[in-house]
Amino acid sequence: MTSGPIARPGDAIGILGGGQLGRMLAMAAADLGLDVHIFTPEADSPAARVAKRAWVADWNDTAALKEFAASIVAATLEFENVPVAAADLIEAAGKPMRPNGRTLERTQDRLAEKMFLREIGIEPAPFARVDEPDDIQKALDSLGGNGVLKSRFSGYDGKGQVRLKGKAPANAWADVGAGPSLVEAWIEHDREISVIAARGSDGAFVAFDPPENDHSGGILRRSVFPSSAPQGVLDEAVRLTKRLAEALDYVGVLALELFLTRDGKLLANEFAPRVHNSGHWTQDACRTGQFEQHIRAVCGWPLGDPTRHSDGEMINLLGEDVLGWESYLAEGAKLHLYGKRHAANGRKMGHVTRLRPRS
Ligand code: ATP
Ligand code: MG
Repeated sequence: MTSGPIARPGDAIGILGGGQLGRMLAMAAADLGLDVHIFTPEADSPAARVAKRAWVADWNDTAALKEFAASIVAATLEFENVPVAAADLIEAAGKPMRPNGRTLERTQDRLAEKMFLREIGIEPAPFARVDEPDDIQKALDSLGGNGVLKSRFSGYDGKGQVRLKGKAPANAWADVGAGPSLVEAWIEHDREISVIAARGSDGAFVAFDPPENDHSGGILRRSVFPSSAPQGVLDEAVRLTKRLAEALDYVGVLALELFLTRDGKLLANEFAPRVHNSGHWTQDACRTGQFEQHIRAVCGWPLGDPTRHSDGEMINLLGEDVLGWESYLAEGAKLHLYGKRHAANGRKMGHVTRLRPRS
């Protein structure tokens, strides 16, 4: 792996994906003197609106991808379902892609992801593979009758998931897209935490203090920082994340989502090869936020100090929650809006961070 700078201020870096994560990465990159080029199939995307250039084209448009690759010195992504072939094409054009296609192969398939975690000694929630409708009930029974059916590919924000108790409903297979999937045991957890951490091209590893996350309907609503879980548990969570980053030979920011079970055990849910929604507060509460940290890592620059100077909470503004933006400003919260035009139900429109001095 190339260690040291692969970009200099004034260079252009590429981001695959045009959502809010790309937007906040682009703003952090601009602050470091970089130009940002976005590649996304979405017209008028949140990221394109703050970038220098945008290619709006399909992921399989190799001519557009080659042109994009020629215009940048290195690339990253904001969305782990970028086709592996697109990431590989950037590397084949001689431009470092961080993270690369090999990491994507491990995270795009939930089954491969869980097997990899287990292989490196990070225990996932118990699971059983489902290849056809008849497998669902067998898998559920083998896991004690309380679980969740998840499609193996392209789920996010709890989409492609069906909660199962006792007898699996007839529509479950269709509801996860009638394709390769798995059943996971339902974990009665005390809380969910996540570790957001960065690994540099020289192997340096730094983690933010893990937050504690509230989900409902499979969508993150709120992250509280720091987590009030015992320090020993948080230290162990960071150790597991370091092991994951090293096993992937990862460069950039990554996140590991974990359940803390009622008997005090950590079980992995999943990992994300990118900046993470449960780390948005770091831009306001830490000396270096996750977006800047990721850009530093991708460019081969020294990582920043992740020290947290404040306690607080981050609240996602979903759908029409965004209409309350003025009241958040009035109370003194930090407001971040993603510039999305339509406030569809459950859509991530922005977030706010409430800070108080670190206790
Ligand atoms: P995202 O992209 O938002 O992370 P996702 O679609 O990948 O979501 P998961 O992370 O698998 O979905 O699940 C979303 C949430 O649903 C989890 O954070 C957790 O709150 C709950 N959940 C999922 N699987 C389980 C489980 N096996 N036991 C208990 N809760 C679960
Ligand atoms: Mg998740």
